[in-house]
Amino acid sequence: AKQNGKNHHEMYTSTMNINTSKTFSLQNDLRKALVKDQFELYYQPKVDAQTNQIVGAEALIRWHHPNRGLVPPDDFIHLAEELGLIVPIGEWVLRSVCRQLKLWQEEGYQSLKVSLNFSVRQLLQTDIVETISTVLQENRIEGKWLEIEITESMLIEQEAETLKTIEAIRQLGVHIALDDFGTGYSSLGYLRKYKFSTIKLDKLFVKDVHINEESAAITQFITNLSKQLNMNVVAEGVEYEEQLTILRQLKCDELQGYLFSKPKPVNEFEKMLNKHIL
Ligand code: C2E
Ligand code: CA
Ligand code: CA
Ligand code: CA
Repeated sequence: AKQNGKNHHEMYTSTMNINTSKTFSLQNDLRKALVKDQFELYYQPKVDAQTNQIVGAEALIRWHHPNRGLVPPDDFIHLAEELGLIVPIGEWVLRSVCRQLKLWQEEGYQSLKVSLNFSVRQLLQTDIVETISTVLQENRIEGKWLEIEITESMLIEQEAETLKTIEAIRQLGVHIALDDFGTGYSSLGYLRKYKFSTIKLDKLFVKDVHINEESAAITQFITNLSKQLNMNVVAEGVEYEEQLTILRQLKCDELQGYLFSKPKPVNEFEKMLNKHIL
């Protein structure tokens, strides 16, 4: 029994060491990822629900790790937030999106709207409005082609500050979308307080909207409300034709999901753009 105990102890410590060094090296790698130019933005099309044409895209970050390969955001955004790296990473995303938007505009895609995801830490930076304004000016982009996606959970922290910041971003003409709507903190009060341009109906409802009456009823409620409040509804995670049919009937404005395309690198996204008339 004594020996077992010892073995157990040894196993425990060695596993812990592996885990800690793993996390530690990931941290170190993440710190260097920006200067090593290891991030890339993928773009996923948003299509008009009635015409099926591409009207915009969501930029989604990817990390090309030298040993691990392509690391999805869910595996490092949280760590980036903890390490305080999300602010420089977020700024890199903003700059990349605006530069890309300008290139697309110069190529003739003049009515393409691109959205990007924000973390709460970015929103709480005192100079965030100035940063957005500067990046827009540097790239000679009108704010209206840019949309920032935020989640409800972000609105809970330091609400007064957040409200002011969001209002100031709106003054730049930039759209604000409420992401993952219907999950977690849902409060209709937010829709009154903040002037969102867009509500993104969470995958959770879209998943069974074609077979579940409750999901369909909630979707209908949200689209009706959105019309009244002058907001667009984007359904995300659309994977099946059956979902597409019902989401159209329920008057969602735009659709996004694997049914149309997964998020793609710039050159592949451009191939899709070329096939559509914007
Ligand atoms: P999100 O903002 O809710 O983004 C939607 C996620 O759903 C993306 O995952 C997208 O690839 C995925 N998706 C799209 N269509 C479908 C579909 O039909 N079915 C399914 N099952 N999934 C679909 P991704 O790219 O792995 O991003 C995950 C999350 O990471 C994002 O969730 C967002 O919260 C965060 N994220 C991504 N890029 C950034 C960024 O640049 N900055 C920050 N702060 N967060 C980011
Ligand atoms: Ca999003
Ligand atoms: Ca989402
Ligand atoms: Ca999410």
